[in-house]
Amino acid sequence: MSQSAFSYADGILHVEGVSAVSLAEQFGTPLYVYSRGALTEAYHAYADACDGRRATIHVAVKANSNLAVLNVFARLGAGFDIVSSGELARILAAGGKAENTVFSGVGKTSAEMREALDAGVKCFNVESIPELHALNEVAKAAGKRAPVSLRVNPDVDAKTHPYISTGLKSNKFGVAFDDARATYAQAAAMSNLEVVGIDCHIGSQITEISPYLDAVDRLLDLVEQIETDGATIRHVDVGGGLGITYDDETPPDIGEFVRAVLGHIEKRGHAHREVYFEPGRSLVGNAGVLLTRVEYLKPGEEKNFAIVDAAMNDLARPAMYEAFHRIVPVVKSDAKAQTYDVVGPVCESGDWLGRDRELAVEPGDLLGICSAGAYGFVMSSNYNTRPRAAEVMVDRERARLVREREEVRQLFAGESILPD
Ligand SMILES: *Cc1c(COP(=O)(O)O)cnc(C)c1O
Repeated sequence: MSQSAFSYADGILHVEGVSAVSLAEQFGTPLYVYSRGALTEAYHAYADACDGRRATIHVAVKANSNLAVLNVFARLGAGFDIVSSGELARILAAGGKAENTVFSGVGKTSAEMREALDAGVKCFNVESIPELHALNEVAKAAGKRAPVSLRVNPDVDAKTHPYISTGLKSNKFGVAFDDARATYAQAAAMSNLEVVGIDCHIGSQITEISPYLDAVDRLLDLVEQIETDGATIRHVDVGGGLGITYDDETPPDIGEFVRAVLGHIEKRGHAHREVYFEPGRSLVGNAGVLLTRVEYLKPGEEKNFAIVDAAMNDLARPAMYEAFHRIVPVVKSDAKAQTYDVVGPVCESGDWLGRDRELAVEPGDLLGICSAGAYGFVMSSNYNTRPRAAEVMVDRERARLVREREEVRQLFAGESILPD
């Protein structure tokens, strides 16, 4: 968690200047709480390291798409990386600009392309030849030229960099490195496309810099070839994926990462190109906490369970990826700690939030599930007809509800029963 935004005062967890106990009392639990200060600090870490360079930051909307979160970034001058026209609608509603937005994703529909083209997005990050054709047709029908970049799969060596999951030959993303030059030639020949850049996105929760430098090398090799073929590559988009500390990971500091990438591009003689970053997790992950209340303690022969009011439908990452989130008491206690599995009420054995945690808790106590700002609320569902949690943004001494808690009747408002 961001050290400055989440800390204890008099033994009580605070988000900036607001006690988490009062947040839970005022807004109920489960509750997502974000710190404007922590979001701002993370954005500045990127922006400051880009200062004076031809580099721009495009916030990956899918990591946290709450309008208030997007608005904080929009006010700071951020661009955005979207993966659907739904996300485009969100950034426009949050004060973001289409002309600062890149459109990623492996399965854009023609309708989504048309919406994005009409809105005037900065670039389409295209992932296949059929998608190039589809975009060309959409642009032709609209009487426009669509700006395109190809997402190239750099096939960075997984043996030396085991964290990478999306930059390998074996996955669905991007154009294969060996096909990229020919694909660029095809794109250049399409009447309603304008080649403007190249992009990659090699994975997520990456905790080393070297895979990025390897990927940049592959991309720049390709750029040099493509330009001898006559195209102009104005920008190089290195994607997102920088990791955060959930437990004991030690990812590079954001500034160090940005400077290493920009320095490497400069060293290779490509400083004239604009560089795009698409961070998601590293901007929002440690700016959010999920507050939950203990409902029951259930001692067992093999395990003790702390059953809380948040569940896998609220935070899917443990169930989906066996992801680790630190779980902390909201009010520190001197009582003797015991080992618990922290689980939710959903009817699945996979519904757990933390395993084998040392906690001194009683029913009614509040817990904070840390580092929940990225891929938290956005992945939540209504499984078990559970209304989704409320979201709150804290700004110094003030807390503001930025998404109302869902009500049960909303969950089936669009459903109907057969008439006979
Ligand atoms: C998900 C995604 C990102 C953001 O990834 P993080 O790991 O959250 O930084 C950036 N670019 C693309 C294309 C993505 O799909």
